[in-house]
Amino acid sequence: MSLEQNKAAPASADGAAPKISFVSLGCPKALVDSERIITHLRSEGYEIGRKHDGADVVIVNTCGFLDSAKAESLGAIGEAMKENGRVIVTGCMGAEPEQIREKFPDVLAITGPQAYESVMSAVHTAVPPRHDPYVDLVPPQGIKLTPRHYAYLKISEGCSNRCSFCIIPSLRGDLVSRPITDVLREAEKLVKAGVKELLVISQDTSAYGVDLKYAPGLWQDREVRTRFFDLARELGQMGVWVRLHYVYPYPHVDEVIPLMAEGLVLPYLDIPFQHASPTVLKAMRRPAHQEKTAGRIAKWRGVCPDLAVRSTFIVGFPGETDEDFEMLLDWLTEAKLERVGCFKYEPVAGAKANDLGLEAVPEEVKERRWHRFMAHQQAISQKILKSRVGKRLQVIVDETQGTVAKGRSKWDAPEIDGTVHLSSRRPIRAGDIVTVKIDSADAYDLHGTVV
Ligand code: SF4
Repeated sequence: MSLEQNKAAPASADGAAPKISFVSLGCPKALVDSERIITHLRSEGYEIGRKHDGADVVIVNTCGFLDSAKAESLGAIGEAMKENGRVIVTGCMGAEPEQIREKFPDVLAITGPQAYESVMSAVHTAVPPRHDPYVDLVPPQGIKLTPRHYAYLKISEGCSNRCSFCIIPSLRGDLVSRPITDVLREAEKLVKAGVKELLVISQDTSAYGVDLKYAPGLWQDREVRTRFFDLARELGQMGVWVRLHYVYPYPHVDEVIPLMAEGLVLPYLDIPFQHASPTVLKAMRRPAHQEKTAGRIAKWRGVCPDLAVRSTFIVGFPGETDEDFEMLLDWLTEAKLERVGCFKYEPVAGAKANDLGLEAVPEEVKERRWHRFMAHQQAISQKILKSRVGKRLQVIVDETQGTVAKGRSKWDAPEIDGTVHLSSRRPIRAGDIVTVKIDSADAYDLHGTVV
């Protein structure tokens, strides 16, 4: 991690709590980093806001995953510089400080991802905390940026895979798992604080604990191991919805499917398959890539019939031929995934895929494939959604407005999947889990009535 520090005078008035304006960009993992930094800041008495004007310092937590994300991050830094001028940059883009310094030589400090200590020390230099022995503003579960009823649970940092299109390992380092008892303790605090849904995240959830050689720990008088299955089983005992993200189809993933069938863990698997053609997967250097994944999904559905699989794909990866692409469409037809996202390949600077000597796919071909992919999958998803009409589903309520509300079924993660639009004759609140009769379905969402 790099820490580049410029000197700056504190701007807060004597005696007043110093104010920090915070911008959080990027994926749920970056959001968790933001939550940790904000938790530290609040515990030291800093006030957090979103207005740059009047803040003592602005922190921008950046994303550097794609070039478009970098541009957004640079835009946010520029805005903060213009409106405030005292800016600390952290997050994935902080791993490449030159790019930021080149455009904004006057930022106060630049730190890399997960560099909580460095961010705090940069803040202390820029605006020292007010000394107040009575300040205790942090609830035990820390400060959450998500609504009160769901929370992301980050189980590890970094990634030991080396997918050729991805620069995350060079930004965030190899996999470092949190010991299982730490994770369970955090989950327990969140549940006690009213969280109804835990979203397990990492870069590679099924590899959890490999780096710690599945180290044992003691949880409620019994031995648990730092590994994917134990984690899913223990979280499943906590009486809340547990959703697993970023799971790669390693063989041991089969073990958690019965937990889903038993209702301990949500019947939902987020597996970023990225492609179906063995040639493309090989060039992508994907972990656990194997043929016959569609057959594997069918087997999982045999154990847990209401399993929903969500995935993301990349079209236009260098060297992708028409045959590869057709194979991907055929695979989608066979696998019948419930929720799917698709990206057009972007040659991220620093990614190995750029040096594989494979022919780049022209932009117009990528565009055409992307549209075909989306139309193909939309027909599949729509059919699946239509099959839900007339059924009664459990729905977690996210937002309410009078007698109407928006929520999600067990098959929908927040932000990325669909919505259940519902009406209710009795008052309902965000975080309630209600039974909804599904009246209709459109391209992505369901509509129903609370029963
Ligand atoms: S699994 Fe691959 S795509 Fe995901 S973070 Fe690791 S290297 Fe990147």
